[in-house]
Amino acid sequence: MKILITGRPGAGKGTQAANIVSYYNIPHISTGDMFREAMKNQTELGLLAKSYMDKGELVPDEVTIGIVKERLQQKDCETGFLLDGFPRTIAQAEALDGILNSLNWKLDCVLNVEVKKEILIERIVGRRVCKNCGATYHIKFNKPKVEGICDVCGNPLMQRKDDTLETASNRLDVYDNQTAPLLAYYKEKGLLKEVNGDQKLDDVFEDIKNVLGGQN
Ligand code: ADP
Ligand code: ADP
Ligand code: ZN
Repeated sequence: MKILITGRPGAGKGTQAANIVSYYNIPHISTGDMFREAMKNQTELGLLAKSYMDKGELVPDEVTIGIVKERLQQKDCETGFLLDGFPRTIAQAEALDGILNSLNWKLDCVLNVEVKKEILIERIVGRRVCKNCGATYHIKFNKPKVEGICDVCGNPLMQRKDDTLETASNRLDVYDNQTAPLLAYYKEKGLLKEVNGDQKLDDVFEDIKNVLGGQN
């Protein structure tokens, strides 16, 4: 199963991606997570990515395409993968087509988690993440059992630096300008599947399973 999950910042991509990869047993490739990991390790890539991420801008295409290309060539992607947060521009989508062609692979499906823009700011500023294992929570909609502590690994939760009101609004604008055109791109190819992300977390996942159900 080779799939993409897309949607506005805060739509629930990461949350649903975690469900999908554990249910279908495929690797989760999140460019946002890869950049955050590089930032944590203070690599050259991390420092470069930080200068864009802190402002809510996109990391340049050539850098992003390079890390995805390298990741997709690893052995565990042969039987399937879930790409989360990539592509985010038409140039990235075209580059992905090139990478997939060269490997003789085809995408099975592009899941678009659709959520109205109005409710996303609250989702984004209320997001809390575990620095250790990456699990995602929300102070109102998806609370951990113990406030401020990760259910999975017991480490403290934190807020992403780009989850402020100001940066979140910029990310939503960047989405409209640079990422939204991908919907028409994948619709044209017959790959786009819409999922209503404005429902309870479990119900969103039920809908996703119904869409992906028959595939493997
Ligand atoms: P969200 O889930 O809120 O949309 P992500 O974790 O996917 O956030 O991305 C956080 C930031 O990482 C983006 O604002 C951008 O700066 C950078 N980033 C992630 N994926 C890409 C990409 N495919 N192209 C360019 N920048 C990216
Ligand atoms: P994305 O990866 O698309 O930016 P996340 O999966 O990180 O989005 O979700 C953003 C925030 O919204 C998180 O705090 C998450 O717990 C919360 N969230 C995700 N899905 C839902 C939902 N269906 N209803 C309410 N809150 C949600
Ligand atoms: Zn954790």
